[in-house]
Amino acid sequence: MVGSGGREHALAHTLGRSAEVVVTPGNPGIPGSSAVSPEQIEADLFVIGPEAPLVDGLADRLRAAGRRVFGPGADGAILEGSKAWMKGLLVEAGVPTADHGTFIDRESARAFLDRQQPPYVIKTDGLAAGKGVLVTESLDDARAAVDEYLSGSAFGDAGRTVVIEEGMVGPELSILAVCDGQRAVALAPAQDFKRIGDGDAGPNTGGMGAYSPVPLAPATVVDDVMDRFVEPTLAALRGRSIDYRGVLYAGLMMTADGPRMLEYNIRFGDPECQVVVPRLTSDLAELLAQAADGALRDTPSFSDQAMVGIVCASEGYPASPRTGDPIAGLADAQGMDDVVVFSAGVGLGDKGEQVTSGGRVLTVCATGRDIGAARERATEAVGKISWPGMYHRHDIAAGI
Ligand code: AMP
Repeated sequence: MVGSGGREHALAHTLGRSAEVVVTPGNPGIPGSSAVSPEQIEADLFVIGPEAPLVDGLADRLRAAGRRVFGPGADGAILEGSKAWMKGLLVEAGVPTADHGTFIDRESARAFLDRQQPPYVIKTDGLAAGKGVLVTESLDDARAAVDEYLSGSAFGDAGRTVVIEEGMVGPELSILAVCDGQRAVALAPAQDFKRIGDGDAGPNTGGMGAYSPVPLAPATVVDDVMDRFVEPTLAALRGRSIDYRGVLYAGLMMTADGPRMLEYNIRFGDPECQVVVPRLTSDLAELLAQAADGALRDTPSFSDQAMVGIVCASEGYPASPRTGDPIAGLADAQGMDDVVVFSAGVGLGDKGEQVTSGGRVLTVCATGRDIGAARERATEAVGKISWPGMYHRHDIAAGI
């Protein structure tokens, strides 16, 4: 398992039911973490968690060395590495999505922006750790963002090409599909909470919590999304000679006109992964190995239990998280029935204790007979954990 966050912890935890798992580089909160580089590890299956190494061609390098890899090559990873490329593919595949324009110069960007209705949506073309998207009601703020992105002052080279989109409105839904290059199977849907503040206030983050399953997304919706969104995308990728073996994560908005694609990610979403994958009752290692071999046979099955995950973050996240604080109460939370805590921004202090080392530190996940019960349990577990300035949302999965 390649990566070091909560997503990788959740994947390693679930793979561990049927496999021996090494996580590289992992973090001090993930059992089986190892500083040895992936190229140096002998394994029957390599699962690459984060987008950056995929965009950088790690899957290609491992495959070239004869390894069995779950994760797209650099050719498929452009789907997330460039929003402009992704939008072009969506249009080609006939996938319903927001109208958009791609710009490198201020004048044409401004002209396009001024023709849009609020909410205004400005995105960096390149990777910006989930923070390169501005959604705002203010045309002035949108114009300022275009200037900052294009000048490189906001996101460096990632922002020198901007994508401006039609603003869509509606609840969001994440569907993670496991693909073997030809076929795709859906995992259980999840909904995540991207904004930092309760009531969806404040800036976007990497994700502040999630739940699964999603009442808004019965099997008919999932089947429709697979038929009209994911399968045509996979076919369009094949048409560009891209053998996509990995996760296609469809980020959807459920608009009044039906589902529309917000974006694809090329890997398991975080925190969605943390509430979806542990719900599997079938074998994750076997499923991912089949996909890596280009020979998906199994359809994944899921527990009836719901799962809710609440992210505990450092003070100052997402702008400038404070780090280095000892984490108290972790063992108490982990010891609770139906609770599992996944570690992301966790490091080691001078005395070998676990300390905060990043913005999103832990995801506290709990299962229950329904979303309400799981939420209650997760909230109780969060109450046992503390460090100076610890922050979490209070409305994750509330009222579902
Ligand atoms: P993305 O990284 O493209 O998924 O964008 C991050 C978040 O910005 C999404 O989860 C939505 O909440 C919001 N967003 C992105 N594109 C749009 C759009 N066209 N209309 C409204 N909201 C959007």
